[in-house]
Amino acid sequence: MEIYSFFKEHNFDTLYFNNTFGEDENSRDVKIKKLFDKRSFSYKTFTDQILFEPGSIRTIENKPYSVFTPFKRKWLENFNIDLLDIEYKYVPKNKKILNSNINNFDFNSPNDSRLSQWELGEEGAKKILKNFLKNKVKRYNEDRNDPIIEGTSRISPYLALGILSSKRCILEALKLNDLDIHSGNKGILKWIDEIVWREFYRNIMHSFPKVSKGKPFQEYTDNINWRYDESEFQAWKNGRTGFPIIDAAMRQMNQEGWMHNRLRMVVAMFFTKNMLHDWRLGEKYFMESLIDGDFSSNNGGWQWSASTGTDAAPYFRIFNPITQSKNFDKNGEFIKKYIPELKDLDASVIHEPPSNIRDHLNYPQPILDLKESRLRAIEAFKNAKDIA
Ligand SMILES: Cc1cc2nc3c(=O)[nH]c(=O)nc-3n(C[C@H](O)[C@H](O)[C@H](O)COP(=O)(O)OP(=O)(O)OC[C@H]3O[C@@H](n4cnc5c(N)ncnc54)[C@H](O)[C@@H]3O)c2cc1C
Repeated sequence: MEIYSFFKEHNFDTLYFNNTFGEDENSRDVKIKKLFDKRSFSYKTFTDQILFEPGSIRTIENKPYSVFTPFKRKWLENFNIDLLDIEYKYVPKNKKILNSNINNFDFNSPNDSRLSQWELGEEGAKKILKNFLKNKVKRYNEDRNDPIIEGTSRISPYLALGILSSKRCILEALKLNDLDIHSGNKGILKWIDEIVWREFYRNIMHSFPKVSKGKPFQEYTDNINWRYDESEFQAWKNGRTGFPIIDAAMRQMNQEGWMHNRLRMVVAMFFTKNMLHDWRLGEKYFMESLIDGDFSSNNGGWQWSASTGTDAAPYFRIFNPITQSKNFDKNGEFIKKYIPELKDLDASVIHEPPSNIRDHLNYPQPILDLKESRLRAIEAFKNAKDIA
């Protein structure tokens, strides 16, 4: 094995590595551990992506949790500030200059305007975190659902890529709350809750490997007879469905590589329920388009929206995109920002423009009827349940 020869060649005394998630990654690491055990070489592993060892938060019956609220309760019960002991200054051991083939790699990033909109590296990530904690976190519980306000941290790409850790985020937030994780400022506590969602989905991925293999968590949903219509799929991807809030959200992702959480739920539910398309297609398109693409959170979010996952929305609870639009983008400012064709429309019509105005502005007619498609989805889920 290459890693082993490399280790021996340089006469190292210990191999250090961070635990990863996922079937293949895990079996690779197990192989390495076995090899090192066999040769009596030492290695040390760390859990850096989440606070607790994956799979270690368990029910009284010693089972992994599959519902978020009790998982969070247990997570909070087990929380100890020592878990955030990350400010220790490690002294580097003697340096060795290693030969490397790094120059053979082509690091020229494609000319992608999505990349230039994000700060680079750890220093950039810390700057974003600092700014969010200083100016926004205390209002997070009120502002987090309103896409035009930008009331969330936008720290997700840095967490997904391992540039910043969830430990760092929680520690810095708790410093503003007297290191209290149970009570205090509602915005701070709500924000930490969201980071616990991330921990929850990573635990699901660890404890239920089927979700990494394209399988739904709720097995009966494998019987759903999903539709496929190429022109509808393209309209959804390109922000041309004729539903302004859906189209604005998809255009936000296509332009910035990021989408607001509320809108991720709205577009994913529209895709899997109203369009009745297989959640795996939407999940894949998100992974290809998002800068914060993260397997466990993306899979968890898609399966939640499709009602195929853990703790999922019941299949008959289907968001109406027009109601969502009126509730969370009341004046249509978000729609206007991403759909310039509609920028002069009044808030009274922007959520559902009349047919003649659409034609005039070259904005598409709706690709489907909301009422009919809702009933079609409920029927498909009911049938799948009956077969199971
Ligand atoms: C269909 C769908 C797909 C998603 N795909 C991804 C993805 O690929 N990568 C990703 O990081 N998140 C994903 N999410 C979760 C969530 O939408 C994003 O984490 C969030 O929008 C990132 O913005 P933020 O950093 O401003 O979040 P904030 O609101 O500031 O939250 C702080 C951090 O908490 C975590 N977090 C927040 N909400 C969730 C959540 N619902 N589930 C898991 N973690 C959460 C994220 O790491 C986030 O950066 C998805 C959600 C849905 C519904």
